Amino acid sequence: MKSFLWLILAGFLLLPGVLVRADGLPDLGESDRAALSPQAERRLGEQIMQEIRRDPAYLDDPEVAGYVSRLGQRLASHAEGTRPSFEFFVIKDSMLNAFALPGGYIGVHTGLILAARAESELAAVLAHEISHVTQSHLARLFGKQSQAQLAALLSMAVAILAARSNPDVAIGAALSGQAAGIQQQLNFSRDFEREADRLGLNMLDQAGYDTRGMATFFERMLQFGRLYENNAPGYLRTHPLTTERISDMENRIAQRPYRQVPDSVEFGLVRAKLQAQNGTPGEAVADFTTQLKSGKYSRESDVRFGYAHALLRDNKVAEAEREVAALRRLKLESPLLESLTAQLQLKRRDSASALQTLRAAVQRYPHARALVYALIEAQIGGGEASAALALTQKELQLAPRDSRLHALQAKTFAALGKRLQQHRAQAEAYLVDGLLIPAIEQLELARKADDGDFYALSQVDARLRELKQRRLEELRRDRRQREF
Ligand SMILES: [Zn+2]
Repeated sequence: MKSFLWLILAGFLLLPGVLVRADGLPDLGESDRAALSPQAERRLGEQIMQEIRRDPAYLDDPEVAGYVSRLGQRLASHAEGTRPSFEFFVIKDSMLNAFALPGGYIGVHTGLILAARAESELAAVLAHEISHVTQSHLARLFGKQSQAQLAALLSMAVAILAARSNPDVAIGAALSGQAAGIQQQLNFSRDFEREADRLGLNMLDQAGYDTRGMATFFERMLQFGRLYENNAPGYLRTHPLTTERISDMENRIAQRPYRQVPDSVEFGLVRAKLQAQNGTPGEAVADFTTQLKSGKYSRESDVRFGYAHALLRDNKVAEAEREVAALRRLKLESPLLESLTAQLQLKRRDSASALQTLRAAVQRYPHARALVYALIEAQIGGGEASAALALTQKELQLAPRDSRLHALQAKTFAALGKRLQQHRAQAEAYLVDGLLIPAIEQLELARKADDGDFYALSQVDARLRELKQRRLEELRRDRRQREF
């Protein structure tokens, strides 16, 4: 299969809401239009993301998401071409897949993270996806579609959705008939793949990863594909992979000097944490027990870390703490170990120790966002809401586009009984995620809360006017598009 639309469809798989709201899609122009404008592309991506964030498959784990995001941003900083502000996210799905959505949003399945045997392999897939974005492949493709074609495409996505909720139906079969017509329009997708491979490889090299990771991982996926025929890993459906592409990669890699790149500590820990979420808690514990007994692993600390997480899931706190002690003896140093320690202390209802652990950890790892979130939560839970508020204010100065921080600040204000400020902060959280209407609703609530002074109220009013104006402009733009 050779179609970039699979990239988008892979995203649409998760979001029935987008289909219903097809009306709100940006103007995609007529077929002679060269490409979707960056603004329209971003808006389309934002709409899709709003649905994805609501989907239960969206992985709301700041440690895993933060890791993937740092890896992606590091690669993207070496990218050529147009560079939107990238956003990386993780989907809980065992299918091997990664996909780029319009506007710089890149999703990775947990299945793909777990299938990567080296960090350079995961980096290779991300670099390939980033290249699709920097080369505006999606925008160019969308630009070729008329509004009618896009509608056909979306209705096809409904079929895929149905197939997904019914695992007895092979997704590939549901697709093949309807997909055929649309695929013919996408005749340059093979060139796109080649371009993404070539630029991805450069990016991988410049970011300091092992370029062989690209060939080894793609080759393994191809083997998977041959084994399973119609049930090929999702990635093969979204990115047609041929032996020709792989030999192209191998040729390019052969021209580069050999470089051995050790995996980061975080890579192993994140994979172990994901593994610990597989199956029932009991099954996860049994799985790690077997691994430890077999002695077949590259890093003992990874297995013990996953084991401790599985034990935590299984409510075996004392045993999990023994593993944490073992990890400290193994000299493991990571923010992930500190947050695990704090989670176990909280499970014991020892919030004083948890606060102490997290405060020290934030000092030691100031860039680990997940620790900051955990500390704020622990402060709110431990009756230190004022300290939590100070921390959210400080952190928001560094990261004003962090919606989780805004939401935590709202939670902190709620704990302090400040209703106007609670709704004002929640409005900002929604706004960062592109949710304009819910943001306006929160500001209306803030106005009605009668615990604000004149100054705070006039601030809310000003913000409300600004957002209503923005909403009006959006409505006007949508109307113009419908008339088009
Ligand atoms: Zn591709």
